Amino acid sequence: MNSDCLFCRIVAGELPSDEVHRESGIIAFKDIHPVAETHILVVPEKHIEDLRQLQDEDAQLWLRLAQVANSVAADLGHDQGYRFFVSVGPGGGQTVPHLHIHVLAGTMRRLPA
Ligand code: 5GP
Ligand code: ZN
Repeated sequence: MNSDCLFCRIVAGELPSDEVHRESGIIAFKDIHPVAETHILVVPEKHIEDLRQLQDEDAQLWLRLAQVANSVAADLGHDQGYRFFVSVGPGGGQTVPHLHIHVLAGTMRRLPA
C-alpha cells in the first residue's frame, strides 16, 4: 500500500468508490469520469505502477485481472463484447500511476489519439 496513491487508498477503503466487484487481490469500480455508458476500472490491490513493472510473479494476477474484466462486462449485460485497454505511463496517457484496466462498453466516445 502506497498512501500517496489514489487507487491504493480506494483499495484500502480510505476513499469511496462505486464498487462493482471485489475479491481477494482485485477490485473493480466505476470510473469517476466515464467516457462510455459502462466504464469500469479493474484494479489489483498490489501497487504496480504501470504495466512495464509487471513481473513473472504477477502472471496469475494478470490473468485474473483479465478474467474479472470479462465477467464485469458480462455481468453488466455486454454480451456483444467490450473494449479493454491499459494506459502505460505518461506517454500512454496514464494519469493514475497504479496499474488498472479500463472496461468500456455500450455507447462510447472515441478514445483520444
Ligand atoms: P488513466 O488515465 O490512468 O488511464 O485512467 C485513470 C482513470 O481514473 C481516469 O479515467 C479517471 O477518470 C479515473 N479516476 C481518477 N480519479 C478517480 C477517482 O477518484 N475515482 C474514480 N472512480 N476514478 C477516478
Ligand atoms: Zn497504488
